[in-house]
Amino acid sequence: MRINVAQLLKEPVGSTRSHKINTSIDDEGIDSVKGELTMTRTNRSILVAGTLRAATTGTCNRCLNQVRCKYNFNLEEEFFSIIDISSGSVSQGESDNSNAIDNNNMLDLTEMIRQYSVLSIPTKLLCIPECAGLCPSCGDNLNQGSCQCSNQNRNEHLAKLVKLGKEN
Ligand SMILES: [Zn+2]
Ligand SMILES: [Zn+2]
Repeated sequence: MRINVAQLLKEPVGSTRSHKINTSIDDEGIDSVKGELTMTRTNRSILVAGTLRAATTGTCNRCLNQVRCKYNFNLEEEFFSIIDISSGSVSQGESDNSNAIDNNNMLDLTEMIRQYSVLSIPTKLLCIPECAGLCPSCGDNLNQGSCQCSNQNRNEHLAKLVKLGKEN
């Protein structure tokens, strides 16, 4: 996801460009990342910011079923040109590898989107908000009805889960 920002670098501070994102991060199981990022020329860099929406498949925190998960996250990073746009000389300092605009004025969003997408995956997924989870004694999925254990135990377990659900 490389973008040529030569023109934007020549424009006055405050100039912006929008860039639509529609990608996926296959090796992390994130099958869609969509949205729009705004690139803003600042007095020292290009600021990339926006909100993206991602989708992945995870495991329910209670019953271990597969869960389709969609989440939003905000991004904000500054990218520094390794070349001074007016003098053409290589500038020192500010830039590091992942947030550098290279000497062809290409800004690469790939690593930024990857990192934010992965870090933002919700850690406690539920298949449904009221998921009953697994029976702690026999391991049956309680969403599919009662298990072998006594109704007494089951009711207590459900009551606890309902209480947890309300607290969440
Ligand atoms: Zn579940
Ligand atoms: Zn049971």
